[in-house]
Amino acid sequence: MAGFQTISLSDAELGAAGSTMLQLMEELYPLCRSITGPGVRDTLHRVSRLAPLTLTEVPTGTPVFDWTVPREWSVTEAYLEHESGRRFAEFRRHNLHVVGYSVPVDATMPLEALRERLHTLPDHPDWIPFRSSYYREDWGFCLSERERLSMPDGHYRAVIRSRLHDGSLTLGEFVHRGRSDEEVLVFAHTCHPSLCNDNLSGIVVAAQLAAFLRERDTRYTYRFVFAPATIGSIAWMALNESRLENIRHGLVLAMLGDAGPLHYHRSRSGRATIDRAAAVVLRACYPDAGAIDFSPWGFDERQFNTPGIKLPVGRLNRALTGEYPQEHTSADSLELMSAGALAESWRACLRIFEVLEGDRRYLNLSPKGEPQLGRRGLYRQTGGYYDGVADRQMGLLWLLNQSDGEASLLDIAERSGIEFGLLAQCARDLESAGLLAPAPDPRS
Ligand code: ZN
Repeated sequence: MAGFQTISLSDAELGAAGSTMLQLMEELYPLCRSITGPGVRDTLHRVSRLAPLTLTEVPTGTPVFDWTVPREWSVTEAYLEHESGRRFAEFRRHNLHVVGYSVPVDATMPLEALRERLHTLPDHPDWIPFRSSYYREDWGFCLSERERLSMPDGHYRAVIRSRLHDGSLTLGEFVHRGRSDEEVLVFAHTCHPSLCNDNLSGIVVAAQLAAFLRERDTRYTYRFVFAPATIGSIAWMALNESRLENIRHGLVLAMLGDAGPLHYHRSRSGRATIDRAAAVVLRACYPDAGAIDFSPWGFDERQFNTPGIKLPVGRLNRALTGEYPQEHTSADSLELMSAGALAESWRACLRIFEVLEGDRRYLNLSPKGEPQLGRRGLYRQTGGYYDGVADRQMGLLWLLNQSDGEASLLDIAERSGIEFGLLAQCARDLESAGLLAPAPDPRS
């Protein structure tokens, strides 16, 4: 198996990855996911086509750190039926119509009594909101404001055929073994029903990364975890506590299919290698990208970054939570997604992994004055694998200048602003020309 170099990823490979991810997303979109239940299992089975997942069922009632695995929920039918026979908020038309974890109901009541159970978004009258009540017994319906306004007065029969029972919470995991036992953790949450950016996009990008890496020789072992938000990451950590010490770097993936620029959320320390790796990739390859400091009001990275766990896990997004109006509504749909955005998000993750994989120190073997590059065919090379000739020249010069055995490729990428993948290619060329050699590992 060969390793991977992102500068040699072709447009065709990128295009194929994008359409595979979008296709998987289209297939997953209609499934009714929640923090437990058959929709999650179906999702994980379909993801297994790209990377065979090991499923773990964590029984209801299992204590996981300060939490307890809840009852399993499923729903087969839900609707509001007016006395005329006309139906509203039909679950079979959209999964979002029923409040997640609604208890079973079959009751008739006047519209006024029903009103407090109806959730709408008056500011976006055509959108259905996403609501759930995982830890408090409740029921309700979500519908567009337009549909609510069309409901005539009179009596309604509210029907929710759901089931809450002692079952289990499902975790999916795929491990790609690298040369080292040291691990990179990739996490995507699986608990949202028909919502694309949050978080089918994270699921499909993670699956496509797993599919790509499983064919490659890597330095790190890559562990992909698919689990519901919060309770899922907590359950996974509680069940795998003895393994956590192998995790060196981690990335939570969410909201990666919209048209916005990439955003990286730093780990708790803000200075972890994953934070630095993401920063050099975004700076060199995505000039409109942003980096945001850690917040305890984050996604699952906030669980991995708690003081008793302290894993260096960051998060990659496009849209920012709280800043895109479609979040947690029916407008977070396939129309918001593009194969191109998914593919570019996927490549950005690979570029970050490439930094983790390729970071090393070199020694300049001709350190007294600059070596004569022209004589070795390294100067003014045009064409070839990369058309950024000036960057390439600068890459060679930065590497020769900094390679005293102290500075690593990541240090040099930070200082020079040159794309890491290009710098790594330059280092390979200088090594072939006999001008650089790997520096002895300072730890050994
Ligand atoms: Zn969400």
